[in-house]
Amino acid sequence: MSKTIIKPTSSLEKVLSGEELNFNDGLELINDENLFLLGAAADRIRKELVGDNVSFVSSYYLNYTNICVASCQLCAFYRREKDEDAYTLTPKQIVQRAEIAVNDLGATELHIVGGFHAKLGIEYYENMFRSIKLNFPKVIIKALTPAEIFFISKVTRNSIKEVLQRLKDAGLDALPGGGAEIFNKQTRDKIVLGKCSGDEWLDTVYQAHKIGLKGNCTMLFGHIEKPEDIVDHLIKLRDLNKKTKGFTTFIPLKFSLENTELEKQHTVISESPSTYDLRVIAVSRLLLYKTLKNVSVYWVALGKKLAQVALCYGGNDLVGTAFSEEIFKAAGKANHTSANELKFLINEIGRNPVQRDTFFNVIN
Ligand code: SF4
Repeated sequence: MSKTIIKPTSSLEKVLSGEELNFNDGLELINDENLFLLGAAADRIRKELVGDNVSFVSSYYLNYTNICVASCQLCAFYRREKDEDAYTLTPKQIVQRAEIAVNDLGATELHIVGGFHAKLGIEYYENMFRSIKLNFPKVIIKALTPAEIFFISKVTRNSIKEVLQRLKDAGLDALPGGGAEIFNKQTRDKIVLGKCSGDEWLDTVYQAHKIGLKGNCTMLFGHIEKPEDIVDHLIKLRDLNKKTKGFTTFIPLKFSLENTELEKQHTVISESPSTYDLRVIAVSRLLLYKTLKNVSVYWVALGKKLAQVALCYGGNDLVGTAFSEEIFKAAGKANHTSANELKFLINEIGRNPVQRDTFFNVIN
């Protein structure tokens, strides 16, 4: 019987010897590398960089409005103002939610995002943040994706810098990394409609980092993207972080299909296979390598069991408790958990659970 010898590609050898990968290397890995070798390499580099701890944050998701003037084909969350189930929370309702988050659930972070609501002035956001901080001065407000900041800047006719500074002065501590989707224009134009471009997203983040507003970064995969788009997206994030060092972690987000236009129009007929998800997570770890040391695994989109496997393919963070998450729920993902369940999932795979804050400081 002949033996099959599995040899690593030259790109894998390159990254394992400590060299940074270029675009062609990334393509070689995503297209040609044996999945198990890819995973083993990503796992080894994860261990070298951050050891065996797996972190998570106690976070509460607060979606202040689902009204949106955009119509992204990837989205199951948005509503028009006339829709029966459209809503916008008042500052009072937001403080009530914050009270549940902090006092009842022990959240250290409020993750606040919403639709592009054209009638909300910048004062709405300032009041929201000031009211939260007045009542809960210690909670971290991680709010408004760069795409929302860009929209608020356009609709209120303030510069991005001014919007960021005013919101920071009102209590904003960090930005979530949503809205990045996929940067390549041709692909992006087929999955989003009415959202900033990839370059505008990157520029908004650059300006946020410049005034000390750090945050995570994301990439939406598993829809219509090509391998080139994944590699291009990761290298753009890597280049930006070399300049600013403002990203706390990278979160690859698996696309959820249910109730989206991409599903209704049969543009995407099924969600990506788990082998592809693991490949993307491993390649992310290898391409970002020393530039961004945290790679987060979003259990809400992947499911809890696949999230455990992804932690062995380069991931070192489980994002968080995501209490009250609405956006992936609208696209068919169940999302209940607790800090204890996250600890259990981490212990089950022989790693050490660590509770962190938004900025990856260990708090427990
Ligand atoms: S993804 Fe965001 S911007 Fe696009 S339609 Fe949904 S809520 Fe609106």
